[in-house]
Amino acid sequence: MDSLTPTGEHKAPIYLDNHATTRIDPRVLEAMMPSLTEEYGNASSRTHAFGWAAEGAVDKARKQVAQAIGARPKEIVFTSGATESNNLAIKGALGFYADRGDHIVTVKSEHKAVLDACRTLEKSAGVSVTYLTPDAGGIVDPGDVADAITDRTVLVSIMHANSEIGVLQPLAEIGRITRSKGVLFHTDAAQSVAKIGIDVDAMGIDLLSLSGHKIYGPKGIGALFVRARDPRVRLVAMVDGGGQEKGFRSGTLNVPGIVGLGAACEIGIAEMEDEAVRIASLRDRLHARLTGELDYVTLNGDGDARLPGNLNLSFAYVEGESLLMGLREVALSSGSACTSASLEPSHVLRSIGVSDELAHSSIRFGIGRFNTEAEIERVADRVVAEVTRLRRFSALYAAKRDQQTDAGQAQ
Ligand SMILES: *Cc1c(COP(=O)(O)O)cnc(C)c1O
Repeated sequence: MDSLTPTGEHKAPIYLDNHATTRIDPRVLEAMMPSLTEEYGNASSRTHAFGWAAEGAVDKARKQVAQAIGARPKEIVFTSGATESNNLAIKGALGFYADRGDHIVTVKSEHKAVLDACRTLEKSAGVSVTYLTPDAGGIVDPGDVADAITDRTVLVSIMHANSEIGVLQPLAEIGRITRSKGVLFHTDAAQSVAKIGIDVDAMGIDLLSLSGHKIYGPKGIGALFVRARDPRVRLVAMVDGGGQEKGFRSGTLNVPGIVGLGAACEIGIAEMEDEAVRIASLRDRLHARLTGELDYVTLNGDGDARLPGNLNLSFAYVEGESLLMGLREVALSSGSACTSASLEPSHVLRSIGVSDELAHSSIRFGIGRFNTEAEIERVADRVVAEVTRLRRFSALYAAKRDQQTDAGQAQ
């Protein structure tokens, strides 16, 4: 993508919004090409070679996705993305197990696809929902989860990596609790699959949502892991029709998307460790430069338990929106991409006690596979320059600095 710089030359903006979506990996696109062209069969056609080829491609992808999370291929249900997977997991489980109970435990900092699915059930199905508050670092206390579970609880839904502040939840501890209490455990792992190790058996996960476009795969494809044994999880389907995906999700399979998701999972897992180290070092370099060269910069979310590519910072005395306007050659988000259409402060930052004022000063840096060291240095230069420029217009910032200088001289 090109944009016109002030001097009139075309220059591609630097993409640092990898939590909103990622660029498709060229190797993923290459893997998809046959099913986008000659191998166009319907994976349900059992009577000819086109159908068999499509079915074979889907089988391979199902194995690749299953392997990425320690599941068995038959436990993977392909969907249109993590939004649909979250809806299917939550509404599907509460629907199927209505005789067991009517209560969900989740967290205030979840993705809107989880929170809004819960709200709908509260409004229309008489379900009650406990929204836990994470600690100041964004992490849920497993003890709070245990305390919130009642004999009416059907499901606990707690995400792996947060899409705004990158914080990782203690899934294994939570899974031990849900197991011991006989409650289903769903996790939204859209941001973490193939980036951070995840194992559905070791972590006691019964339902797991993932998405292609967050892991360098195509948009409009995702999956839901539905545990087949110990326990076998049942769901009410959201989409009825031809009975594909064992009836969990009818509709002709999106074969190119499925092939792309499988390839994205396999590549991600193969390169996960090296990539995490490389991306975390870019992230740490950016963090060190911004906090070294600017004052009043705070990190949102726990400093350690976080995605390698996530850096969410508040730049006090600067409006996040103004900062982004001044940084048009860098693609960034203030708060979450999903809520940036409205100017509501991010519900995630609110949930960890960040003031509305500082939430409006926050920027999410999302570093990914295709970012380079040179890009990170350039972004640091530009952010430092732009924050410094905007703060020249801030009377509050000037007053704060004067206070500091006076305090310093008085000592
Ligand atoms: C992006 C995202 C979603 C939504 O996924 P889609 O595939 O775009 O529907 C859900 N949860 C999290 C944590 C996400 O980052």
